[in-house]
Amino acid sequence: MRVLKFGGTSVANAQNIKRVLDIVQQSCITDKTIVVVSALGGVTDVLLNSAQLAANGDTTYEEMLLGVQQRHLDTVKELLPVTGQSAMLSWIIKTSNELQDICQGLFLLKELTPRAKDMIVSFGEYMSGRIVAEALKLTGLAAEWKDSRELIITNSDYTHAAVDFEVTNKNIREYFSGSNASAWVLPGFIASNPQGITTTLGRGGSDFTAAILAAATEATILEIWTDVSGMMTADPRLTPNARLIPEITYQEAMELSHFGAKVIYPPTIQPVMQKDVPTWIKNTFAPADTGTIIRKDAKPAVGIRGISSIGNIALLSLEGSGMIGVPGFSMRLFQALSLEKINVILITQGSSEHSICVGIEQENAEKARAAINQAFELEITLRKVNPVAVESGLAIVALVGENMRSHPGISGRMFGTLGKNGVNIRAIAQGSSERNISAVIAAGDVRKTINILHEAFFETDYKQINLFISGTGNVGKKLIRQLEKQQQYLLQQMRLQVRVVGLSNSRTMVFNEQGINLENWEVALQNGEPANPPEFAQRIIQLNLRNTIFADITADASVAAIYETLLEKSISVVACNKIAASSPYANYSKLKNLARDFNCLFLFETNVGAGLPVIATLNDLLHSGDIVHKIEAVLSGTLNFVFNNYNGEASFASVVAQAQEEGYTEPDPRIDLCGTDVMRKILILAREANVRLEAEDVTINGFLPEKCLAGTVDDFYAAMEQEEATFRKIYEEAKAEGKKLKFVAMYENGKAAVGLQHIAPDSDFYHLYGKDNAVMFHTERYAEQPLVIKGAGAGAEVTAAGVFADIMRAARF
Ligand code: ADP
Ligand code: ASP
Ligand code: MG
Repeated sequence: MRVLKFGGTSVANAQNIKRVLDIVQQSCITDKTIVVVSALGGVTDVLLNSAQLAANGDTTYEEMLLGVQQRHLDTVKELLPVTGQSAMLSWIIKTSNELQDICQGLFLLKELTPRAKDMIVSFGEYMSGRIVAEALKLTGLAAEWKDSRELIITNSDYTHAAVDFEVTNKNIREYFSGSNASAWVLPGFIASNPQGITTTLGRGGSDFTAAILAAATEATILEIWTDVSGMMTADPRLTPNARLIPEITYQEAMELSHFGAKVIYPPTIQPVMQKDVPTWIKNTFAPADTGTIIRKDAKPAVGIRGISSIGNIALLSLEGSGMIGVPGFSMRLFQALSLEKINVILITQGSSEHSICVGIEQENAEKARAAINQAFELEITLRKVNPVAVESGLAIVALVGENMRSHPGISGRMFGTLGKNGVNIRAIAQGSSERNISAVIAAGDVRKTINILHEAFFETDYKQINLFISGTGNVGKKLIRQLEKQQQYLLQQMRLQVRVVGLSNSRTMVFNEQGINLENWEVALQNGEPANPPEFAQRIIQLNLRNTIFADITADASVAAIYETLLEKSISVVACNKIAASSPYANYSKLKNLARDFNCLFLFETNVGAGLPVIATLNDLLHSGDIVHKIEAVLSGTLNFVFNNYNGEASFASVVAQAQEEGYTEPDPRIDLCGTDVMRKILILAREANVRLEAEDVTINGFLPEKCLAGTVDDFYAAMEQEEATFRKIYEEAKAEGKKLKFVAMYENGKAAVGLQHIAPDSDFYHLYGKDNAVMFHTERYAEQPLVIKGAGAGAEVTAAGVFADIMRAARF
């Protein structure tokens, strides 16, 4: 005997049912076949809604039921040959009328009991079953219709009745041994109590019906035909990277389904496991796919087998000093829940015995609260126990695998991964079988969590990085271009899929959860919504994507102001913008601490020396125990460019203008010219060397005459022209000594200063050309000769590359 079960999608319409008929005909070639069917996809929900509407006194239920009737009529008309239709069509109308009558009764009574629910919902499987049976007969097979309610006997727990296996198994054996048919069609999900009143086996229960039949008839196989090609490593609707699990043990399948892998209804496994009936999950829409086989001696998975989740969870916590060392507390708690027929999904108890936590379905939360508070009424009055605390809006995510027990470190990896992504864990449980580790988290974090766990445990093809960028000026544009060019390399060589999900400039911002097309981001951005940094931050947080990184490529204080909010959500921040790192020390250190506390990175390598590895090198020196005595640096690409190119021929102002044109200056070139920019850089270096320094503590020995500083940028250029003689004098003085002018930053003994210096030919700073920067670290280990870092310290391309490198650091963190 073979048992085949077809789910709602598989019988959703005539076209799909035709596939089902083909599959059943194939099966019958091998052996006699029992076919179990669900209601037409979605019908169960519609029936339940109609019943509820009727009981609420809302007459729209009538129309909904007419819709159900029409679907069945349409299916018959398309499925059966014209000659075979009429009896079935009139049967459907008659049956639908009965259904209307029952709902009319509810409408009058204004009441919907669980018993009535089961009665109404049974029409779904009843009608689909009859249609499939009729269609199968008309193919010429010796097929028979049998109402499951005559075979499967349950108690009277309506909506989730428990099967009396003794009676049921006997009924099944008797019926099938007495029938000569070669195929049978039975409705799934529905059963009856000993009085013959309709009951159901719980939502998704058609799988269970099929398993009961397979076990009782000792079938050679149970096939669950559905709309996916097997059990996957995670719900494919949540994780596009989910992979097929070719084979799995009964226990693992049970655990995965118990924790939400909807592809199979959890109680299904028990009967087939007992009788060792191999259970095969197959795709009606891709019958050639191999599917998943559930069997006793399935090949063990390395590490974990799958990840699943259940939503709509509430967590109840019972706490109190009166619980310590007193036996029987947990028994009373579970008894209170059991009397209310509340299913406990997860339990944790601290080893201090001070608290017990249970996870239950959200819809039972209030009932559970009342029951527990009542059970512990005395202790609560005596203040030995607190009233039960209820937390809602939660979900459970579980890792499942037979082999987890022999792989240490799985929970560490799980919690580490969640921590890095800012997922807060409310409770943890590890089954004593060590076949599962589950964590209770906020419902809004489920998608992200499943995906990051999937990346962490299934070495999926790549890790997905979700990048948000503010600033699309010179550097931003180059960065986007570099990202676009490197996409393939990152994917192939580093297994990183970097997607730009949000983009903003000072005018507009745009988001695309699937990743903005980097070939025409400019058009997308132009058509975006008005830009607003706090709103940008909120959207990043709301999207709640895994491995999120924010890159600030502006020079804007309002953008720097959002870092705090992001870091608090474990979102790494890469700043090209120097404002935050050079802001008051308290703010700088707050941001650094937030990154540490929330397990992410706050990086700003390009704040000093553009793409040159200055901060990273300094950090490496310090982390490895070196001590920095002195830092000397030429840190302004702009000022270098200006002093390297100014030789008294063209005016000083025109050389500055050229620097600005070539993109070496800040948007307001005065920030460079008056030394503020260099001051910020040495301030940041000193801070990174663990010195608590404020901007005001840095001495600035400027060279710009006072009157150049006021007014607009245009005024500034005009004033510089007028002061040409002053600039010329500065230049000539240095030239007369055979020296060059360099704007040097210096840090030593807790003090920092910046200013113009005459540099002699024997200095490392003498041969700095173009926009070069140079930094010399005089340290304990680099005592005789300083460690020197030298190279282009400005320019959009190298700065973008520096930002890119920081993004990669954050991505691989
Ligand atoms: P049927 O109506 O055929 O019984 P269900 O909707 O009950 O189908 O179950 C199939 C669905 O289960 C799939 O469409 C898929 O979205 C969902 N599902 C959840 N977790 C998993 C998983 N781990 N593997 C495969 N499918 C899963
Ligand atoms: N039709 C029922 C439901 O939707 C049973 C099933 O399809 O398994 O829950
Ligand atoms: Mg199902």
